[in-house]
Amino acid sequence: MSSDANTPVLRNCIRLPLAEDELLEVTAKAKDYAIMHGAAMRSKTAFSPDSLNFAPFVLVPSSFPRKEFEKAVALQPIINRLMHNVAHDEEFITTTLAETIKVDEFTANLFNIYRKVLAHGFTQAYSIGLLRSDYMAHVSEGCAIKQVEINTVASSFAGIATQLVPQQKFVLSELGHADKLHNMPDNNALAGLCNGMVKAWDIYAKPQAVILFIIEDVSYNICDQRFHEFYIRETYPHIKVLRRTLTEVHREGKLGQSKELLLGSQEVAVIYFRAGYEPGHYHSQAEWDARYLMETSLAIKCPSIHYHLAGTKKVQQALAQPAVLERFINDPEEIKAVGKIFTGLYSLDDNEAGNASYEMALRTPERFVLKPQREGGGNNVYGVDIPDALKRMSRVERSAWILMDLIHPPLTKGYMVRPGGDMPPQIVDMVSELGIFGVVIGDAEHIVHNYQAGHMLRTKLSTANEGGVAAGLGALDSPYLIDSDDEDEQK
Ligand code: ADP
Ligand code: MG
Repeated sequence: MSSDANTPVLRNCIRLPLAEDELLEVTAKAKDYAIMHGAAMRSKTAFSPDSLNFAPFVLVPSSFPRKEFEKAVALQPIINRLMHNVAHDEEFITTTLAETIKVDEFTANLFNIYRKVLAHGFTQAYSIGLLRSDYMAHVSEGCAIKQVEINTVASSFAGIATQLVPQQKFVLSELGHADKLHNMPDNNALAGLCNGMVKAWDIYAKPQAVILFIIEDVSYNICDQRFHEFYIRETYPHIKVLRRTLTEVHREGKLGQSKELLLGSQEVAVIYFRAGYEPGHYHSQAEWDARYLMETSLAIKCPSIHYHLAGTKKVQQALAQPAVLERFINDPEEIKAVGKIFTGLYSLDDNEAGNASYEMALRTPERFVLKPQREGGGNNVYGVDIPDALKRMSRVERSAWILMDLIHPPLTKGYMVRPGGDMPPQIVDMVSELGIFGVVIGDAEHIVHNYQAGHMLRTKLSTANEGGVAAGLGALDSPYLIDSDDEDEQK
């Protein structure tokens, strides 16, 4: 979907193919390296809480334009501030989501919690955002990065991505290319995010209080959560981490006299949501009640409900409209820089502009992706499938969706390694999506911490619409930075 015969191919970091015996040996080694260093997941097909599979990975790091990587890194503190300001703009969030919540029940449920919290006043003024801004390089604009989406809830893979840099460095060294390691940027995503949680814990300022991770009933991506937990426990042994599902919080949680969140006798300082971002996580009203209980509590939420809503696709679409950024960013240079990462995003609300986007999507569907207000992958509709999907909706139902220009990333060639996959792996055409992590902590008036916190690269088959790592078409990767004026390194 993402490419045609004319799509440029980025120069590889090393010459491929590898000789078969060398490939077999290094792939087997990389698989064991991954399992032994926790670049791993629970199997969905043969689930056992007692074992792990390596997470799908790309053997040799995929190339990414250095200038664009550096741009994304430099932009992150500005994006952090933007999202913080958006999250605290009640009027903007309310107006932007007004049509969507009439037809999208899940967003409406989140919004109801927001409305109730607003009515009673925020018990906790501070929020922590652990964000991930995702990009693809867009070939028709000289590989300039375009934002795919911004995640404000459960931004994942900081743990595994941090492990993948040494893994791919190990592979490159084994293959005799230690001289190239300097083109792989350091990645401290795990420490960056965890230190952010600890800074929030410090703000809460109660030595006995714990950090609570909200988890799914079954965590397939367990390593990526345990990394965070173990990092916190090992670096800050005085801070305890608890893991609970929404259902368990409903059963065990209550508010104390100052609205502190209590699980049994343990007070919760910080809540880190790794679940709660999709309808399936709320089995009944009990889970919604738990979410509301936490939201009204004194605990510092990651994300708080307003941050969660600021990360919806609808808000992203609204931000990409001309002149909207001026509401949230003062510096004209920053407005320009952020404006450039947006590709076309269009409302499908039932009004003149929305109906024009609808007509445009029917005329040239191959230019677009259609997105609902969902996270977690597998929800979008692509290209030629869009007209049928749109025609099945009523005019008002369309406002639960947004339309976005397809980004066309350059190709890379490499070996994708999956549990149960071919040995040796075949060379495939791939495209990559870069995620930049950011941490922002503050209240409505002040931002007290704001920094960029590492990165991740997810690479998928060029023929795939989406590259969900657990879903089967994507793999974890790290960027190998190339300059446009580099010599051809394949010689
Ligand atoms: P989710 O919240 O489900 O992760 P995304 O907006 O990130 O939703 O879309 C999922 C995937 O779909 C992305 O990781 C990317 O592979 C693909 N995708 C999304 N938007 C675009 C786009 N505008 N152009 C090309 N691919 C896209
Ligand atoms: Mg995504």
